[in-house]
Amino acid sequence: MSDNGKQRLPIEHRGAQLEDRFGRVARKLRISVTDRCNFRCNFCMPSNPVWLPKSEILTYEEIARVTEILAGMGVTKVRLSGGEPLMRRDIDKLVSMLRQIPEITTIAMTTNGFHLPEMAERLKGAGLDSVTVSLHSLKPERFDGIVGRQGVFKRVIEGLRIAQKVGLNPVKVNVVVVRGCNDDEILEFAKLARKTNLTVRFVEYMPFDGRKFWQPELLVSGDEILRAIESVYPLVPLAREQGSTAQVYRFADGVGGNIGVITSMSSPFCKDCDRIRITADGKIVPCMFSRDEYDVKVLLRSGASDEEIAAFIRQAFWNKFAGVETLLREQKVISHVRPMYKLGG
Ligand code: SF4
Repeated sequence: MSDNGKQRLPIEHRGAQLEDRFGRVARKLRISVTDRCNFRCNFCMPSNPVWLPKSEILTYEEIARVTEILAGMGVTKVRLSGGEPLMRRDIDKLVSMLRQIPEITTIAMTTNGFHLPEMAERLKGAGLDSVTVSLHSLKPERFDGIVGRQGVFKRVIEGLRIAQKVGLNPVKVNVVVVRGCNDDEILEFAKLARKTNLTVRFVEYMPFDGRKFWQPELLVSGDEILRAIESVYPLVPLAREQGSTAQVYRFADGVGGNIGVITSMSSPFCKDCDRIRITADGKIVPCMFSRDEYDVKVLLRSGASDEEIAAFIRQAFWNKFAGVETLLREQKVISHVRPMYKLGG
């Protein structure tokens, strides 16, 4: 046991898959490729964001190197996010670099969809598999109000259509449900899933907002969302994939796409969490509800070997926090950790 209470990695774990002290294994890497965004969503961005200096942002080569090292330790799925990943120039180049890593089976992206109309085909061509678009209202003016930009709703909807057209699959929609803001649209979003083959996922509001609006009273739980939908459209739960964040349902009458709920606050899924994150400026973040972060950029830029970087990441992941589930069980106060645009979800 080292002096800061963190545990030394047992010898038998070196060289094996990436595992934490609770026996959870990392399979999914979430990469925030930039902290910048062209939107100002009120439950994410502070009013006046201060961007990271460009020199602090990992290059595509550095991102690809870390991904390759993690792939060597069992990571197979990558999700690109931000800020807004499509704000990063030539992001399709990074997609094709990651596509070269044989162990990586899936490359997905979470985006606000604004640049998808012109980028979807290039991304698909570079090897992107699927895309999730954040769409927090189906009312154009309300949408503009939430994202802090005028007249952008149509482009995001067009982005969704083009993403489906070019064959990205699945194409999902994420909607963060906030009481008194958009919880009156739950049925409309269910209708969207029925009309299209989109998977619409309702995300519980989490305390990762730059303006610190988050209060427990604003949370609409997954159960509440499902009850609202089931009052009109009966649902059938689908088997939950190991490590999945969403519990997914199909409509009992077989119409349309699926519905998902991501219940980090009311029914967390930490027991089999298989995620590890890296921020745009090269911090390894094992758990998004913990302040623990480990700077791998220093190693990348000081000539460290892949073995040294792998050992560093292993030690960091070994000490992954148990998760929000523990905070809720111990009735600990859930406080703001860092704004979502600094982590990318
Ligand atoms: S709170 Fe942490 S451990 Fe729990 S699911 Fe989220 S990232 Fe994983």
